[in-house]
Amino acid sequence: MFGSENVYRGGKTGHFCLADWRSNTSSFMLLESLREEVLDANLELVRRGLVLYTFGNVSGISRPDGLIAIKPSGVPYESMKAQDIVISDLDGRVVEGALRPSSDLATHVELYKRFPGAGGVAHTHSEFATAWAQARRPIPCFGTTHADYFHGPVPVTPDLTPEEISGDYEKNTGLAICRLFDTPGTDDTQAVLVAGHAPFCWGSSASDASHTAVILESVARMAYYTLGIAEQTSPISRALHDKHYLRKHGKNAYYGQVQSK
Ligand SMILES: [Zn+2]
Repeated sequence: MFGSENVYRGGKTGHFCLADWRSNTSSFMLLESLREEVLDANLELVRRGLVLYTFGNVSGISRPDGLIAIKPSGVPYESMKAQDIVISDLDGRVVEGALRPSSDLATHVELYKRFPGAGGVAHTHSEFATAWAQARRPIPCFGTTHADYFHGPVPVTPDLTPEEISGDYEKNTGLAICRLFDTPGTDDTQAVLVAGHAPFCWGSSASDASHTAVILESVARMAYYTLGIAEQTSPISRALHDKHYLRKHGKNAYYGQVQSK
């Protein structure tokens, strides 16, 4: 189906057959468990109805190895295998894989550089979150579902300039996202809407990033419905917002079960 692809492995570039790759990789694949997690995190977007066709991409990072595992570009989810996940370094240079990485890899790279706690990044064109991105409107916090996950409104980037678009577009998309967090104390919201495009989310792992993307879509849908019912709805109070966010995420968090040590 894919014919042969150029592959880069440890300094050697050559022609490679995907079928051969799949049958021969198990004994020397890099980061097998991360590949499996990234594959499952990508499939989670399908299970939750967040993607159509080959839309979207999830990656995960091994910080000790300085390597990123990311969905290949344009491969149908239903036939994707762990071997198809592409491994790159933190410069976006492919170090193992028979397929080309997602074209959004450079955006993921910028997010990993900016957020040291990020273990995974998820990008979707899920409909409600994307609708807010297209409207260039941040998603206000209208309720505790939002406050449980995102501290403050989900922000939206400014439009990219023509120079940013014609230049290194995917990297510039990442930099536009990162600039939103230049203000101290804004690192608590692990989701951003890229104006005229769609959301990028992150989390402690690839599966956590997908989870953030699923919750964001739900929150975006609820906010849309809320404004449909009452156009003048105000965000919830700062006190209620902080209460819900900080009981789950603050240093004195008490939501959920105590972790055994
Ligand atoms: Zn996109």
